[in-house]
Amino acid sequence: MTTVETEGEAVSAGAVSEFPPDLRPLGQVQDSYIVATNADGLWIVDQHVAHERVLFEHHLRQRREMRVEGQRLLLPIIVELKPQQLATFAGIAEELGANGFEVEPFGQRTVAVKTAPAEIRADDVERLLLEILDGVGQEVRALSLDVLRLKIAASVSCHAAIKVNMPLDHNKMAWLLRELGKTECPMACPHGRPIVLRYGLRVIERAFKRI
Ligand SMILES: [Zn+2]
Repeated sequence: MTTVETEGEAVSAGAVSEFPPDLRPLGQVQDSYIVATNADGLWIVDQHVAHERVLFEHHLRQRREMRVEGQRLLLPIIVELKPQQLATFAGIAEELGANGFEVEPFGQRTVAVKTAPAEIRADDVERLLLEILDGVGQEVRALSLDVLRLKIAASVSCHAAIKVNMPLDHNKMAWLLRELGKTECPMACPHGRPIVLRYGLRVIERAFKRI
């Protein structure tokens, strides 16, 4: 279990039952962290990793059901690959296809990307593809299909998620907290980073020397 040091309290990541269904968003810190409250105290939610967790579980579910949607690009994106990337691509092309990427060999060292996962912006497709290929790298033969799927889903959701330094209105914050609450693992992002910090009422009261 991962624990996150906060000033007053350690919040255990992975403790799903701890995520409250009744959080009210109050605003953002630096357009990056949602501040929310309920009867238990004050909560701070990293908006990027929160959305990443929501998209990650959604993507994996779609993949399991063979329903990942690819979006056709206006023009195919031609990507030049290094030898290792080409070798990796050959090994995972089929799984990429099931994840919304329609990619075809195009010349000796280049591939043409015709579709990409629906949430990905066209100008981010090349970076995402290269990140997936480099992330798998030489492990391509040793990697189980399950791990490969997790890696691809983590990369796609990271690229598609709301960024930090992005203003969110009240409805969008409430939506994100609600969707996060529905995930299987709302406390940690796919890479294991914490999503939620809690400053419990007792911590606040102690800090004000009320108890
Ligand atoms: Zn990310």
